[in-house]
Amino acid sequence: MNPTFLTIDAARSSIQDRKTTSMAMVESFYERIQREDAGIGAYLTLTRERAIEQADRMDRMAAEGKPLPPLGGVPVAIKDVMCTRGVRTTAGSKILGNFIPPYDCTAVARLEAAGAVVLGKANCDEFAMGSSNENSAFRPVHNPRDKTRVPGGSSGGSAAAVAADMAVAALGSDTGGSIRQPAAFCGVVGLMPTYGRVSRYGLIAFASSLDHIGPLTRTVKDAATVLRIIAGRDPMDSTSADVPVPDYVEELEKPVRGIRIGVAKEYFGEGLDPEVRKAVEDRIQTLAKLGCEVVPVSLPHSKYAIPTYYLVATAEASSNLARFDGVRYGYRAKNARTLSEMYRRSRDEGFGAEVKRRIMLGTYALSAGYYDAYYLKAQKVRTLLTRDFEDAFKTVDAIVTPTTPTAAFKLGEKVDDPLAMYLADIYTVTADLAGIPGISIPCGRTRDNLPIGLQILGKHFDEATILRVAEAFEKTSA
Ligand code: GLN
Repeated sequence: MNPTFLTIDAARSSIQDRKTTSMAMVESFYERIQREDAGIGAYLTLTRERAIEQADRMDRMAAEGKPLPPLGGVPVAIKDVMCTRGVRTTAGSKILGNFIPPYDCTAVARLEAAGAVVLGKANCDEFAMGSSNENSAFRPVHNPRDKTRVPGGSSGGSAAAVAADMAVAALGSDTGGSIRQPAAFCGVVGLMPTYGRVSRYGLIAFASSLDHIGPLTRTVKDAATVLRIIAGRDPMDSTSADVPVPDYVEELEKPVRGIRIGVAKEYFGEGLDPEVRKAVEDRIQTLAKLGCEVVPVSLPHSKYAIPTYYLVATAEASSNLARFDGVRYGYRAKNARTLSEMYRRSRDEGFGAEVKRRIMLGTYALSAGYYDAYYLKAQKVRTLLTRDFEDAFKTVDAIVTPTTPTAAFKLGEKVDDPLAMYLADIYTVTADLAGIPGISIPCGRTRDNLPIGLQILGKHFDEATILRVAEAFEKTSA
């Protein structure tokens, strides 16, 4: 069983048709991980026992001639911000270094119920804060396409696992770009669904009004397959939406002719690498040839997106992370003499530098004297950003942009410059703030052979259209 270039359908049908067994497939993936992952660092924890149990279940079904569920035997990686019952879940942080959750994240439970085999927990930036995976408390992830470069973040381990054929699909989370940006850097597909489309139950919170779970896959069809399974109302998350979930795979078949594609000049301005610009502009021409109508649109408040995001996200993070105090979960400082010393030292020793920076920024933005000036103002601008999209979507069905201003940068290149790092998400944070869905798909390579990502944004709950456009792109580049 060769784990390279496997898609969901290929993996599932080879087990169904008994060309291989789920067990053999799991073994070949673990062998590959054994060989490749020391130089990449995509996994923090492997879940071999759990994988073997599930593989056995799938093999028995196949042997009995029963139809396998849609992800039957498909090896997947789970970003380590999603709780897995009985399996260490760290959020990339020392403070949760020994945390073993007593329950499963809904998205993970749904994947497993659909037959997926969880190989392990993927490395990520601490509490999903970062754009390069260098904020992981355990180790950085290297980009499998060029190991001197970052894989993007914060779902860098998930993207790298798929790109290096160490999983067929992975789950990531996106708060400001953390699915789409690493997908772009690693040359895979990354889909952030509409806010509320996928339950956040069991996702360790970073910024609750911005957090989304979604798939990273090799193909658009695989992203559609995974979304279908994880989407839909969950009584355990009151913000999960009771909106019907279409058959995304079936929707892919529909033609793209007549779809109106918006192009916003705000996403092609200063700071955009000329090679990335050219690749994306060329691909937009391809869509026009397929019969899409390309329409200029304007998203005038885009320039405020980064400051708005870093106010809202840090404010929510400062309150979400208050629960880590050394009492309830995870790391506790040794030999503290008083309760308050125990709190202080547990947090000081357990959190990394970027997380502390965010807690301080967020606490400041929420403090009585500054609340109106910062947090309240940011919420107002968030509304304006959302309205920009609502207005644009009156005339177009989808908006195409570059996913990131540049291709993957070097490890270490931006670690000392948080502002430069924050700009890596300049084209992705807007969708999180507006709650609309977005997908990043591979769009050629730079001269240095680094992947370039193209982003397609859609209307609330209209993942079907962006998947359909993405599929058309993918077909023309095949
Ligand atoms: N890079 C952004 C940040 O550091 C986005 C992170 C995310 O989407 N989880 O906040």
